[in-house]
Amino acid sequence: MEKRKRILTGDRPTGRLHIGHLLGTLQNRVLLQDEYEEFIIVANIQALADNFANPDKVRENIEELLCDYYATGLDFDKATVFIQSEVPEIHEIFMYLSNFATVQQVQHNPTIKTELIQKGLGDSTPLGFFLYPIHQTADILCVNADLVPVGKDQAPMVEDTRQLARKFNRTYGVELLNEPQALFGTEINVPGIDGAEKMGKSLNNCIYLSDSEEELRKKVFKIYTDPNRIHATDPGKVEGNIAFVYHDLFNPNVEEVSKMKCLYERGRIKDVEIKERLFEVMNEKLAPIRVRRIEAEGMKKELLEKAVVGSQKVSAIARGIADSMKEAMKLKF
Ligand code: ATP
Ligand code: MG
Repeated sequence: MEKRKRILTGDRPTGRLHIGHLLGTLQNRVLLQDEYEEFIIVANIQALADNFANPDKVRENIEELLCDYYATGLDFDKATVFIQSEVPEIHEIFMYLSNFATVQQVQHNPTIKTELIQKGLGDSTPLGFFLYPIHQTADILCVNADLVPVGKDQAPMVEDTRQLARKFNRTYGVELLNEPQALFGTEINVPGIDGAEKMGKSLNNCIYLSDSEEELRKKVFKIYTDPNRIHATDPGKVEGNIAFVYHDLFNPNVEEVSKMKCLYERGRIKDVEIKERLFEVMNEKLAPIRVRRIEAEGMKKELLEKAVVGSQKVSAIARGIADSMKEAMKLKF
């Protein structure tokens, strides 16, 4: 049998998962879990980088993350879910790779630039946070992944991984590390309900997979639309209007969306009508996930056990990669 290609992706246990995760990466994971050998990392060490004084938050969110995975249809017997802190080989690989990255490369990483501003870290950026893009390349390369299904904000991280793998191979004359491809679920980051460029679990602008129908309705009706439109008869702006961005992402009826946009621009449809319809299409997608999430609540122990066993499997694979790297670098005795 031909060896299946590998996927590596994952999340930081900093909060419950939201619709940005669903469209950006979770859906692709479920879609590809048969075709690929899939590895999902619960990045708890990376989560500590900007939450180091709050270990309880990171620990408690691990089970929440696992429940969200199960809810979206991830099969824990097909995909290998694992916990970053249970695979120490990642740190070793990170150290070997760090020679091939530069301080300037991280400084110019557009995602890091945005996150430093969002988190207000400025002059007191922890070194651990600054290093995380390179540590993440070690996550990806510890199983020598071929494909990385992620949201658009992770594009620079996958590009860094490709570059580091290439430099390592070239320097030591080996064909050891893969240059993985990114797979984006959406063309853009899914924006926040407040109009922010990215919905983020640390940004308080999310629709969570675990939100009840009532919470979903409330949030949909709070969505940022066109702030200059006061009356339903005022011509409205579609561009930058989050209700329409979400319609484009969730409403399968393209013709209906295009008609609503036309009516909106001509001041012939109310915001509430757009939002009521949006609530319906979103709820249709999220309702079955909600049901499975409630089921997962009673399975937390079992899911965590599977993640611990998964970590042992990944650790063994990563040991092999780290040893081959040592061999290439003349570090093996
Ligand atoms: P935090 O704010 O704590 O960084 P986050 O919401 O950015 O949380 P992560 O755990 O950092 O979530 O990201 C996990 C995965 O979800 C990554 O692949 C990331 O690209 C994707 N993702 C996160 N937010 C979005 C979004 N708004 N749109 C599309 N994909 C997203
Ligand atoms: Mg993030």
